[in-house]
Amino acid sequence: MLNNNDNQTNTKIKLEEVELNPERKIFENKLRRMSSKEDINHYFETINEVKVLGWENKLFESKLPIRDLTNITDPDILSEEISDFKTMRIIRGDIDRTRVQESIYMTSFKEYLYQLIIYYIKKNKISYKQGLNEIAGPFILLKYKLKLSFTRIYKLLVCFIDKFLTNYFSEKEFFSLQSSFGLINLLLQYHDTELFRRFEYALISPDLYATSWIMTLFANKCELNVIYYLWDKLILFDDTLFPLFFITAYLILNRDKFFVEDYSVILTELSQMHIDTIKEVNEILDFANEIRDKTPNSFYLLANKLEIFNYDSQNLQILYEKFKPNLMLAMPIFPTDIFCITHKNIIRCPDVNCENFKTEKFNTFSKCLYCRNREVKKKISFIIIDIRIFDNEIYNNELIDKKEDILLSDIFPGFLPKTIRITSEQLNSDEFPKNILKDYTDEKEKYHFIIITSDTKNYFEYDHKFYKFANKKKSIKGVLFKRTRKLDNKKIEETFGDNKNKKEYFLLKEFDYFKKLIDEMNLEKFKYVSFAYGGYKDIHSFAMKFNIDLLEHGKKCLLCEEEEREKKEKNRKNSGLLAFKFW
Ligand SMILES: [Zn+2]
Ligand SMILES: [Zn+2]
Repeated sequence: MLNNNDNQTNTKIKLEEVELNPERKIFENKLRRMSSKEDINHYFETINEVKVLGWENKLFESKLPIRDLTNITDPDILSEEISDFKTMRIIRGDIDRTRVQESIYMTSFKEYLYQLIIYYIKKNKISYKQGLNEIAGPFILLKYKLKLSFTRIYKLLVCFIDKFLTNYFSEKEFFSLQSSFGLINLLLQYHDTELFRRFEYALISPDLYATSWIMTLFANKCELNVIYYLWDKLILFDDTLFPLFFITAYLILNRDKFFVEDYSVILTELSQMHIDTIKEVNEILDFANEIRDKTPNSFYLLANKLEIFNYDSQNLQILYEKFKPNLMLAMPIFPTDIFCITHKNIIRCPDVNCENFKTEKFNTFSKCLYCRNREVKKKISFIIIDIRIFDNEIYNNELIDKKEDILLSDIFPGFLPKTIRITSEQLNSDEFPKNILKDYTDEKEKYHFIIITSDTKNYFEYDHKFYKFANKKKSIKGVLFKRTRKLDNKKIEETFGDNKNKKEYFLLKEFDYFKKLIDEMNLEKFKYVSFAYGGYKDIHSFAMKFNIDLLEHGKKCLLCEEEEREKKEKNRKNSGLLAFKFW
């Protein structure tokens, strides 16, 4: 499978094995001395050819088709040049700070690292980003130890980056990195709400502490033995999102450091954190695995939708703006995943493209990420909190509009099993949301709470930072909403409500309940809180598409009617287009 071109003649820098050997000996002795007496901190010593072959197998099997890795030779790598003086200087400067401890024992370390980096950025047509030096450094050291060819080291590096850092280095802007920060926040909020709130209060966001953790996969924070050990585990776990679970686990295990009186020291604490021993890595890995098991599959679905690890993605910015991972108020749950939880005998896998998605005969040997982890997942029981406003307000309005003799139960869009339905009365009460949460204070770490609203997708279209309730001004029929937003640098104030735009009015009202509920749950340290992304609208349409029964689904259901209308509208538009084309 490997195409080793160990042709080392005609290179700008000559690889002289005679010179290398004494260097290697000093280097290894040095590492041995560095290792602490406790636990197994001699990991670098144990890395041998077999280990590297194992890594190659694991990384190559899934990643090889992405980029063309054929026809690469050592002379190619060693003779690469760049003309941009500024970039050259930046790279040299970074290299001077890379693994200084270990590299001083090898005179050629800097030159080799430099060549590997510039070959990587030129071959992949990307500009240099800091962090690449830290990722490539350990690979150069490995080259010394095992006398590997540059070509092999280069391929290993490419596949390693493609697996865990796909778009971070290649993307011009930083949308995939921003998305990852959003994902870290979601994990932290889901697993340790108190710590999440602590950071929010102190205005500490992941970009302030996790950038180097992500971009270097902890290489700039760890001693060499530790970093090889950690990377070995990452490769074996074969999960692109694992570094994010690892970071979350790392934060939670160190949480005591952040609950100090002085907020200003938190950031210092974060920047000074480092992992010293393999024992520590193991503790974090164990906990990260536990966190992963308790995280809903939708976390992976979201990462897939954001295409962070899709090398070919052209849509990183569009997707980032569509899903706004940094603005999501809790962990989103997608309809496929919801039905996996509520109707697990019908929907077997949250991935619609999986052979096991909706099946009688489950293929246990499936290679699918979700199916593979199905048995492992530690199940948390779920409770659905449904805060749709429909019982009185929307219904009565609809009924009045229709002026027909229709029963409420006929137009009811239904609901899911194990749902607590919150009435308008409860929502409008001054006690909301305390009145509904008080029954669950003892269960807040035992249950996975799924909040359902009508249609969350629209929420994120409102710039909710600028949106405000004018709740004191009650109109005759309901509440007026005020929203200020910026348009061409001018502030415009919009007031709407009543029947002017009924749909928007109800959605905004619901959004406010939704925010209040999430805030209160955060405050009361409820763990495992999520919301149905796309709201009941998407749940309903998913159920219709795959013939799943919803409870009390009315014969003339409002949503079915709405879908029908939308379909007609779509057909009308399409046929219009066709007619136009025809002409
Ligand atoms: Zn599957
Ligand atoms: Zn329906």
